Amino acid sequence: MSARASAIVSPTLAELELAWAGLPLAALAPALVARAHARLLELWPLLERWVEINSFTSNFAGCDQVADELLRALALPGLDGRRVPGRAAADHLVWKSAAWGTRPGVLLVGHHDTVFPPGTFESFSCDAHKLYGPGVLDMKGGLALLRTAAAALADCGLLAELPVAVVSVSDEETGSADGRRVLAELTGDAAVGLVFEAGRVNDAIVTRRKGTGKLVVSARGRAAHAGNDLSAGRNAIWALARFIDGAQRLTAPDGRVTVNVGLVTGGTSANTVPAQARCEIDLRATTAADAEHLVAALQRLAAELTEQTEVQLTLEGGMRRQPLEPSDAQGRLASRYGAYAKAVGLSDAQAALMGGGSDANTLAEHGVPAIDGLGPRGQAFHTPQEHAEIASFAPRLGALLAFLLTWEAAQR
Ligand SMILES: [Zn+2]
Repeated sequence: MSARASAIVSPTLAELELAWAGLPLAALAPALVARAHARLLELWPLLERWVEINSFTSNFAGCDQVADELLRALALPGLDGRRVPGRAAADHLVWKSAAWGTRPGVLLVGHHDTVFPPGTFESFSCDAHKLYGPGVLDMKGGLALLRTAAAALADCGLLAELPVAVVSVSDEETGSADGRRVLAELTGDAAVGLVFEAGRVNDAIVTRRKGTGKLVVSARGRAAHAGNDLSAGRNAIWALARFIDGAQRLTAPDGRVTVNVGLVTGGTSANTVPAQARCEIDLRATTAADAEHLVAALQRLAAELTEQTEVQLTLEGGMRRQPLEPSDAQGRLASRYGAYAKAVGLSDAQAALMGGGSDANTLAEHGVPAIDGLGPRGQAFHTPQEHAEIASFAPRLGALLAFLLTWEAAQR
């Protein structure tokens, strides 16, 4: 972390205090309310420190430095934290309460990587109402919320008895290719998953997300001189262009399924029939069935064009995250959490379908009902305007604490 003075200003703290003081928290024990208040005041300096460290997904050193900070901040009685060494990713983190694994548990999910390469968007700042900085919303703010809840529960001796685990992966922003094994390992003991990605503007609970995938298409033709021997060549760029046109047309008019060719390379010079070309494609689908049809259609297209053009089109990749689709169990989870959210002035509504995947998709893939968007409210994540609303931290904390404290009773 840099040696610069903290950017936290007193109106920021006043807004936080005000939001907490105004909450209807009668359901929580006074001792817990007091400890949560004390721990809330630690949230800002912690979040500032975490945001000040660049943790772009492929900046492993930065991600690991944030992981060190997280381990320190979550070294709490009744909670056992450990690093899971990354494979082609920075380290992931897992914390388990003493009661985790003894009965069906609640898995609290976050990530500590961001989408900002070093030097593109750095440093934390704030005004009276908002916090700004890379990851302040997506989703170090959500991690700060989790830490605050865990610390308050630990202070009151309640954490060890709750079957709770916290996980923070280091590669969520690129699809959790490595982090998913860490999540998968926890799903056996998890009855539900709560994911603390950015809260929506209207506080709606995220229950649906598209599945996401990536395909790399390689075209291998035959080089030839464009003037002397054109007909002997097999133009890889032309074949790939035809594939791209067909692929783009698979986007459904209603947006349920989308295809975006986002990167193309190929050829060596204007007077050579290109032997090689390559493109990368982003895929999104609303249901698992749609995703399956989409990938099959792309494979068919590649096979047909290979035959017609004598250029070998090869596909690599596919769906990385399956869609998060509503289920009965997820509906029960959303209405349980929604009741606590509503009690503290948030919404119990469910958000409209989102195009982006998250680790809620990963949990659902493993049969664990999950809801998302439970982090602080804000806007403009993945842009240099990313910000979180200060007043949203307190009610989110209140809802989470109430949900966790009644978890055991709800299981009986
Ligand atoms: Zn995120």
